[in-house]
Amino acid sequence: MKKLAIYGKGGIGKSTTVSNISAALAKRGLKVMQIGCDPKADSTRNLTNGEKITTVLDMLRQKDKVELQDIVIEGDLGVLCVEAGGPVPGVGCAGRGIITAFEKLEELNAYEIYKPDVVLYDVLGDVVCGGFAMPIRGGYADEVCIVTSGEMMSLYAAGNIAHAVKSFGKRGYASLKGLIYNGKNIDNEDQLVETAAKEMETNVLYKIGRNPLVQKAEDQGKTVVYAYPDSEMASEYDLLSHILLDS
Ligand code: ADP
Ligand code: MG
Repeated sequence: MKKLAIYGKGGIGKSTTVSNISAALAKRGLKVMQIGCDPKADSTRNLTNGEKITTVLDMLRQKDKVELQDIVIEGDLGVLCVEAGGPVPGVGCAGRGIITAFEKLEELNAYEIYKPDVVLYDVLGDVVCGGFAMPIRGGYADEVCIVTSGEMMSLYAAGNIAHAVKSFGKRGYASLKGLIYNGKNIDNEDQLVETAAKEMETNVLYKIGRNPLVQKAEDQGKTVVYAYPDSEMASEYDLLSHILLDS
């Protein structure tokens, strides 16, 4: 079982990228589990017809005895979808939701029962404390990738995440695999991202193009890989999924 955590600033394109990677891997016959670790809880929506599934936290609030099938929902191409969820705004800590969700999945033996080949954690990386650091430090992910554009705020978040991975890494936790460059077509963007990668002592794994097909698929509640399998964009995500898994 390969476990990869994908971090990045809010809105940078993590969930879009992760769900397309999940779909690309599933198409190759792999059993994939995608775990959304963002209080926004929309990581897997393009695998479930654009609809948000009930989060682990909400399910725990609704039911005394939560079962695996309440929180693991099969999406397109058989991808197993989980959303950690978040607290009621103003009450409790967002990161705590991730910890609770991880504990529940383990308690219910999710990994033993579903036996996924790949587990992808889609994690909000604006702050890398408490629960948001769990995929890195809790023995969950083997490797971490960071989605970024050349925009300053997204590179700033990437720098923080890289720093966190490195400081935990010394203690034998997850290692930093590299950056996934989701370009925004800003001036001199390639150079900005390359320079930042060097400063983080890492490399750019892949540059994803900006493509209107992403929105078109999203409007149908689908991934590009599922809705437009023969498109160039689907091939890009497929290539990225190979880079993440085969090396
Ligand atoms: P995050 O999960 O990081 O908060 P999302 O994956 O929800 O971000 O993406 C935010 C928006 O950016 C979405 O509306 C998505 O369609 C768009 N987007 C992401 N990547 C691309 C891309 N490569 N081309 C076009 N639109 C994209
Ligand atoms: Mg997201």
